[in-house]
Amino acid sequence: MRILVVEDDVNLNRQLSDALKEAGYVVDQAFDGEEGHFLGDTEPYDAVILDIGLPVMDGITVVEKWRAEGKGMPVLMLTARDRWSDKVAGIDAGADDYVAKPFHVEEVLARVRALIRRAAGHSSSEIVCGPVRLDTKASKASVDGVQLKLTSHEFRLLSYLMHHMGQVVSRTELVEHMYDQDFDRDSNTIEVFVGRLRKKLGVDLIETVRGLGYRMQAPTNAR
Ligand code: CA
Repeated sequence: MRILVVEDDVNLNRQLSDALKEAGYVVDQAFDGEEGHFLGDTEPYDAVILDIGLPVMDGITVVEKWRAEGKGMPVLMLTARDRWSDKVAGIDAGADDYVAKPFHVEEVLARVRALIRRAAGHSSSEIVCGPVRLDTKASKASVDGVQLKLTSHEFRLLSYLMHHMGQVVSRTELVEHMYDQDFDRDSNTIEVFVGRLRKKLGVDLIETVRGLGYRMQAPTNAR
């Protein structure tokens, strides 16, 4: 899962980005509204954390422009405390949720998790595919109750496939959601990660759809 953090306060931006990375996300950072708008317009994000008060272009304008351009990714706005009018303006402009400053990073993380889950059609914090359980809260996965030891790449891959269970996900899409913008991307490495993940899962749930990509789904026959 790939997140964009648009916040001009350098320390706050770093604090949020570090916490998101720690939780297993890939993070891109922007420090003004124009840069943030550009990235959200050109890169696919699973969620965006967007400050309202930004240089060059304010957060409300950024989210308004994205929505007008048909960009539907979940947006969590950061607002000043007690500025109820900002919250209303943010939601009206197309934001999905907000957190008032000062906040606890844990709250931001919880709201981001919920936004990503809901955008993918999951209401529970645990996503289940046959014997595989993905705990989005703890960033952990298990098979038949046994916790998996996954690298951050493997976890991101599994998480993306499970959030999009039943859908064919292309290699390009996986690359775009597993690496940040500065990473030297190579879609061939995805094959290697899928191979490793299949091995660790030990159950055959990731299907290769020739020429299209991969699809993860629960077996139709009961185990
Ligand atoms: Ca600000």
